[in-house]
Amino acid sequence: MRFPLTLAHIFERAGKLFPKSEIVSRLPDKSLHRHTYSEFCRRARALGGALQHMGLKRGDRVATLMWNHYAHLEAYFAVPCAGGVLHTLNLRLAPEDIAWIANHAGDRFLIVDDVLLPLYSKFREAAKFEKVIVVPLTGSSVAAEFDDYEAVIARSRPFKPLALKEEDPAGMCYTSGTTGRPKGVVYSHRALVLHSLASALPDVMGMSNHDTVTPVVPMFHVNAWGMPFTAAMVGAKLAFPGPHLDAVSLLDLYQSEQVTLTAGVPTIWAGILQALDQEPARWKLSAGMRMVVGGAAAPESMIRAFDRHNLMVIHGWGMTETTPVAAVNYVKRELAGPAGDTQYAQRAKQGVPLPLVEVRAMTGEGEAAWDGATMGELEVRGPWIAAKYHDLETEADKWSADGWFRTGDVVTIDAHGYIKITDRIKDLVKSGGEWISSVDLENALVGHPKVAEAAVIAVPDAKWGERPLAVVVLKPGQSATAAELREYLAPKFAKFCLPDGVLFVAEIPRTSTGKMLKAKLREQFKDWKTS
Ligand code: ADP
Repeated sequence: MRFPLTLAHIFERAGKLFPKSEIVSRLPDKSLHRHTYSEFCRRARALGGALQHMGLKRGDRVATLMWNHYAHLEAYFAVPCAGGVLHTLNLRLAPEDIAWIANHAGDRFLIVDDVLLPLYSKFREAAKFEKVIVVPLTGSSVAAEFDDYEAVIARSRPFKPLALKEEDPAGMCYTSGTTGRPKGVVYSHRALVLHSLASALPDVMGMSNHDTVTPVVPMFHVNAWGMPFTAAMVGAKLAFPGPHLDAVSLLDLYQSEQVTLTAGVPTIWAGILQALDQEPARWKLSAGMRMVVGGAAAPESMIRAFDRHNLMVIHGWGMTETTPVAAVNYVKRELAGPAGDTQYAQRAKQGVPLPLVEVRAMTGEGEAAWDGATMGELEVRGPWIAAKYHDLETEADKWSADGWFRTGDVVTIDAHGYIKITDRIKDLVKSGGEWISSVDLENALVGHPKVAEAAVIAVPDAKWGERPLAVVVLKPGQSATAAELREYLAPKFAKFCLPDGVLFVAEIPRTSTGKMLKAKLREQFKDWKTS
């Protein structure tokens, strides 16, 4: 049977089968807002209907500037089911960048949290929306120049059902611009449905109706890794952190809602780990809570440390262009065994490709062998991998004629099919014709008990072309010398890989999505010399 794969199906099913599943959201005042899937569906229908009444046409972009909470979830389904395209704006970007992105995407409407109006006011002259709908999260009244989200919903005009096609655009997100200007990626209904199905599989996120799910990863960046869609598909309880992403607030939420599955970038987990290590008895968490870690490498030391707290790190890899989940780490049967060094080294890799995703590592001489040693650029293809960027022709060479997408990540793939990211092409250190993995050095450095964070960058060198330089943030109250850290690394690496210098800094610059901004460090230390 020809049956279109659309979010409308997931949405209608969630309302019919899981009306009692709960949606909990932390509000700006830290209180918890609670409602059910049944209310979520009623409200999302009303929002979709209101948007249609305001003139939303098929394919029109509706921007959101929102934290993770119930109203954002309503927009996640209301906009695409009403025929629109949900465009999540990254609230951590500079106002002028947000305006540039909104204009480039051609957004018609904006839904914005009241607590984010000060941010909106900084770019409102530069990006004009036909309607601005304000979510009164704080309960204060909405100014007359805007539409009040709650009033819009109270008018209760359910949307006119549309015959959606699976190829219709449903959502859109811009890359965070770690390595250049943000680029827009459009997600079809089909891509999002297939991504949800694959994400829920036992060897991926293993998300079920029995889970309580907390996406810490923002709903404004790559659909919070698809978790809201996957959760609605299986009817899982959702516990949203709202704007409170500090370790204590998250741990309180994990405890009060007995969260079983959560996801975020490594910086979030580093904070959580510190809080747990400081007060191990303070929180009673659900035993074995799974934490999906991606966006940047999860160091082996972090995976080990969480195991000691009976919390399970699941390492995954993806990009804005891959919707994003494309590879996830689980220990295959053939590799199962006691939790020793080999097991941890395997778990620190970025994992195996999901069903329907194909991968290969390309070198100058063709496809690299799956030997765990030969480095090449990772290429991927599959039904939820983007086929182009929105309104941008210059990057078309990232795709081959037979659909392979060049990721810009340098990897090895081992005989079991596990991908290991060694670097982004732009971050690789090329020393005397050899490639040195900055990620390997960083992961080893953060395994040192005194080190909180580490970035390894290439600095120009007259003899070798480039040499590695480590930039390190120590844990509070610690002191260390460069020699001490080099000695610590020495047994783990070939001599030529060891950083020529170790610099201690108070902070490593980060992007809007929490990745280390190495371009800035390279610029800062470009004149650094060994002596
Ligand atoms: P941007 O491309 O703007 O940084 P993305 O969120 O799309 O924004 O980032 C995708 C990139 O993040 C990947 O290409 C890869 O370099 C990095 N990445 C994602 N997951 C991991 C991981 N588990 N380990 C190492 N790097 C990762």
